Amino acid sequence: MALILALDFGGTKLAAATVNVGSRKWLRYERRLSPANANASTDLEIMRSLIYSLLEDTKPAAIGVSFGGPVDTSTGMVRLSHHVAGWENIPLKGLLEEEFGIPVGVDNDANVAALGEHRFGAGQGYDSLFYITVSTGVGGGWILNGQPWRGTGGMAGEIGHIVVDPAGPVCLCGKRGCVERLASGPYMAQNVREILQKESSSRQVRQGGEVLRGLVGDDLTLLTGQLVSEAAAAGDNLAKEVLHKAAWALGVGIGNVANLMNPQRFVLGGGVMKAGENFWQVVRQVARETALPEVNFEIVSAILGDDAPLWGGVAIALLANPQFANE
Ligand SMILES: [Zn+2]
Repeated sequence: MALILALDFGGTKLAAATVNVGSRKWLRYERRLSPANANASTDLEIMRSLIYSLLEDTKPAAIGVSFGGPVDTSTGMVRLSHHVAGWENIPLKGLLEEEFGIPVGVDNDANVAALGEHRFGAGQGYDSLFYITVSTGVGGGWILNGQPWRGTGGMAGEIGHIVVDPAGPVCLCGKRGCVERLASGPYMAQNVREILQKESSSRQVRQGGEVLRGLVGDDLTLLTGQLVSEAAAAGDNLAKEVLHKAAWALGVGIGNVANLMNPQRFVLGGGVMKAGENFWQVVRQVARETALPEVNFEIVSAILGDDAPLWGGVAIALLANPQFANE
């Protein structure tokens, strides 16, 4: 029976798993946190030890890799990692092919997760879908006619940097009011922090913020997107306001993408899954109002969770080896 090896180079963790072709259950699975001072060499070293411990005497038929950063998929060359130093121009596909002598597929995490959801998750049976991950950033992966659509330079699907508020705050990309600038976890936390700080210095008293302050004991540097969601659920008006703006931004982005590409489904994964029913309602409503009435689509939750990059790795490994063309 043919064995597939799936690898996930995330920003903070490394994971590897093996599965038999056709099975939906991991044979072996290992993950390890990336050390605080990680670089490309330490990541590769840790991954090699995970792989050899998983494989023992077995030999996989293909390897699929999810990488947390932009990748040139035609060559399998990593362009860089936003979280780990030293990944500039590392030929990851070439290194693995050389070491293991089997076909290897490498792609960025959003594209890989999109493939995973398409093949094994919430996108099964849908040939045209758009996957969005909302967590530390906002990324997108586009499946068109059952295949990933990457664009000329591998940059297709960047919904995170669609501008929804041209007069909004400046994003890390240099533009104003991007979806990511309003809807990612760290930026939601920053938006709350800035309002609370301004308020402290001007001694203005407003409604909201009390629950948030309580959660972090007045140390505003501890605020996270997750805590903003929790405070909103507990009724904090400021948290509700910032979370609503995030849902609105995502909804406008999704509505515009729906008009442009008319997919059957949007699949949303990442930390956003825990943002609460209210958040999802706003996203759905705003997306619906933004898109043309004739453009139909559904917005659903991803179902593969933390394993999406690994299941996507399996999908990309199957694509990498022509032997599995009919799998
Ligand atoms: Zn941006």
